[in-house]
Amino acid sequence: MNFAVAPGASAETSHIISEIWHFYENEFKTILIFAAAVLSLMLIKKNERNVMRRRNFTGFIIAAIIVHITGPALTGTKELYFFSMPLPWSSFSIQAFNTTTAFHESFTGHWGVAGLGAVLIFVVLYNIVVFAGTLLFGRRLQCSQLCLFNGFASEVFSAAFPLNGKKPRKAGRVLKTVFSVLRAVLLSAAIFFTLTSILSAAGFINEVNNPLMYKIETYKYLSVELLMAMFFWVVFTGRGYCYYCPAGTVLAFISKTAGQRIRTDLSDCIGCGKCDKACPMSISIKEQALKGKPVISMNCVGCGHCVDVCPNETLGYSTWFIDLINSIRRKRKLAD
Ligand code: SF4
Ligand code: SF4
Repeated sequence: MNFAVAPGASAETSHIISEIWHFYENEFKTILIFAAAVLSLMLIKKNERNVMRRRNFTGFIIAAIIVHITGPALTGTKELYFFSMPLPWSSFSIQAFNTTTAFHESFTGHWGVAGLGAVLIFVVLYNIVVFAGTLLFGRRLQCSQLCLFNGFASEVFSAAFPLNGKKPRKAGRVLKTVFSVLRAVLLSAAIFFTLTSILSAAGFINEVNNPLMYKIETYKYLSVELLMAMFFWVVFTGRGYCYYCPAGTVLAFISKTAGQRIRTDLSDCIGCGKCDKACPMSISIKEQALKGKPVISMNCVGCGHCVDVCPNETLGYSTWFIDLINSIRRKRKLAD
């Protein structure tokens, strides 16, 4: 609403729309995340473990408070949330530097050019946390604890609002092919816009104020990212966008380096198949668990649903760093 309507409206209408939009995006969304997380926890069956999901909810609530409440108060921009979504990888240059965008106006209106500096610092810090954190904790950190674009919606609302009473459908072969094509297209777009940012910041080109670039980026965001993500969320699987999210794709490669995997050797698998049913990314877990082999998948968002649902506590989310922490803890326990 704010994105498309406010720039063309009268000053008064634009102001009212922006105020409503900012309230919805910041305060209202934070309250909604908190309420949905509490409701979801109450709705998760009493006898079901929810260790991982509780941690996910805590992560999203903290992220929402920082991004939607504390961050805007410190930087003076109520559009800060935009720069913490997976989109900065593809949209930052256009939305931050293009002088006609609502995002640009939101932070330069308060602090002038210094506002751009504040947002840049926020983006750099946020990206350091995400990239370094992924090297230590795998894709789980961003996709299941921090992502305020699609991650929070699929995690926090899944139990509280189970898709109009329907069970979310699993991604079949056709849908997975569609997701693979979208992944290649969006990753290419992300690389293109990221290169544009770097070359613009270095002064080699000045394409960020190009109206055609802005139009392409806007329609890409509104159609393939926002509307399509919502469509997949409602009709198919809440994690639809996660299959082709450009940030998720980059983080999936980093997660490989981090040694991210689902351990299946914590006890014997009884082959009940609950893990396969619980996985929102349609990953085959049981097959590997029966062999005692780890589950390693680019699509694993580290939500831990499989870990929580396993009746035998066979499964565990792990990375090299988590293994190290656990072994230090074990040694300390033995020493005590
Ligand atoms: S394998 Fe487990 S942790 Fe990974 S996406 Fe599936 S349910 Fe979540
Ligand atoms: S939920 Fe646990 S016991 Fe059941 S199939 Fe999966 S790993 Fe095996």
